[in-house]
Amino acid sequence: MEALISFEKTQEEIKSGRIDCVGIVKHYLNNIQTKASLNAFVEVYEEEALTRAALIDQKIKAGSAGKLAGMVIGIKDVLCYEGHEVNAASKILSGFESQFTATAVQRLIDEDAIIIGRLNCDEFAMGSSNENSYHGKVLNDADHERVPGGSSGGSAVAVQADLCLVSLGTDTGGSVRQPAAFCGVVGLKPTYSRISRYGLIAYASSFDTIGIFSKNIADNALVLEVMAGADEYDSTVSQKPVPSYSTLLALKKKTKVAYIKETMDSPALQPEIKVAMQEKINALRSAGHEVEEVTFPYLDYVLPTYYILTTAEASANLSRFDGVKYGYRSAQTANLESMYKKSRGEGFSEEVKRRIMVGTFVLSASYYDAYFTKAQKVRRLIKEKTEDLLSTYDFLILPTTPTTAFKFGEHSGDPVAMYLEDLYTVQASVSGIPAISIPIGHDKKGLPIGMQIMANAFKEADIYAFAAAVSNLK
Ligand code: GLN
Repeated sequence: MEALISFEKTQEEIKSGRIDCVGIVKHYLNNIQTKASLNAFVEVYEEEALTRAALIDQKIKAGSAGKLAGMVIGIKDVLCYEGHEVNAASKILSGFESQFTATAVQRLIDEDAIIIGRLNCDEFAMGSSNENSYHGKVLNDADHERVPGGSSGGSAVAVQADLCLVSLGTDTGGSVRQPAAFCGVVGLKPTYSRISRYGLIAYASSFDTIGIFSKNIADNALVLEVMAGADEYDSTVSQKPVPSYSTLLALKKKTKVAYIKETMDSPALQPEIKVAMQEKINALRSAGHEVEEVTFPYLDYVLPTYYILTTAEASANLSRFDGVKYGYRSAQTANLESMYKKSRGEGFSEEVKRRIMVGTFVLSASYYDAYFTKAQKVRRLIKEKTEDLLSTYDFLILPTTPTTAFKFGEHSGDPVAMYLEDLYTVQASVSGIPAISIPIGHDKKGLPIGMQIMANAFKEADIYAFAAAVSNLK
C-alpha cells in the first residue's frame, strides 16, 4: 500500500471500504519493522494497537467513532501513558512505568486515535541532534549519515519515514521545529500554555510545550484542536476557548509579513537556505502580500537567555531523580549521600549533568542576580520587542535552522556549536508565542529546508492558514 499521505485520504480509504483500521495499523507496523534501523521507536505497542484498531473498526461501523478514528500516532518518550514505560531517554528512568496518562495523550485516545508506540529523543529533551539518548541515535531518513535533529528526533523521523501519520514531540527551545525542518515535515510549537503539560516530564517548565509533527497542515490543526484547552490538572494552562483550527485553514486576507534582517544576514546561515527564503519572500510579494525587512537587535542575546533560564529550571526539575523514588539506583552505595551521588552520577548523561551544574551555578546565591535575574530581564525585553513587531506585522518569518541536517559527530564534541543550532528557534520559546516549521525545498545534497512562521500568542489559526498559503505558493 502506498503511503497514507493525510488523514483526509485515510478517512476516504476507510469510507470506501478499501482499508480498515486494522489494515492501517498493519501498514505502519510493517514499515516500522522494515525501517527498524532508523531507531525512531523505542517501543512499539503492536498487540495493543491492533486490538484497539479492531475495536475502532466496530465503532466506525456502528457510527459511534470519534473524530480521530483511524489516525495512528506515535508519542515522544517524555509523555506519560498509564501502564507503559517512559524513560525520557535516560538511564535514570530505566524501567519506570507511568502511573497516569498525559492529558494531551488522553484526549487523542478519547477521540479514537491509535497510539502505536513510544518515540526516541534526546535525554530529558536536551539536545539538537538526538545523539544524546540512552536508546541510541536516530537516523535521518533523508540521509542515514545525518542527524534527524533533536530533541524530538524519533517523532520527526516517524512521520518522515511513514511509520505513523502524526506524532507528538515537545518543544522547549526548538525541539519540534528543528527536527521537522531537518526531516522535511510540518512541526508546530503552540503558544505556551495552549496544551496542558500534565503528564509531560518537565525540562524547563516556563518554556515546555507539547508540539505536533505531521505531513501536512490540516492534520496538524486537527490534532491541536483535540489536545488544546483548559485542564484541571495543570494550573498554568490557558482557559481560552479552543478554535476549531481544522475548519479555519483558508487565508481571509492579504497579510503583512516581516522577515528578520539579522537572521538572513547571519554568516552562520547556509546560502541555499537564504536563497530558498528569498524565493518564498518574492513569491509572497507576487501573490499580493506585503513583506518588509525588520531588525531584531536582540538576536545575539536569545541563546544565552534561553540557556541560562532553561538550565536553571532543569536543575530544579531534575532534582527529583535521586535514586529514591524513581527508576535507577546505583548498586555501589554505602550511605544516603553516596546513593544520591552515585545514582545521579551514573544515571544522567554528560550533557544532562552539564546543564544541571550550569543551572545550579546560575541559581547560586553569589551569582543569582548576575545571571538568573539578568536573564529574566532580558527575556522580558526579547518578548516585548517580539510583541512590538507583531503589533505591526501579522507574521514574522525566518529560517528554522541555520543549516540543513548535519552529520553525526559534527557537533558532539562542542556543546556551544550544538547550542548554536537553536539560534532561530529560541526567540519564539523565550517569548512564549506559537511558531511552525514548514518544508520549503531542499539544498544541493537533497536535504530538506524549513521555514519558520511566528505569530502573536494564541494565533495558531492564523499561522495554519498562512502556512497553508505559503505551502501552495509557486
Ligand atoms: N535544542 C534545545 C535544547 O537543547 C531545545 C530542546 C527542546 O526544545 N526540548 O535545549
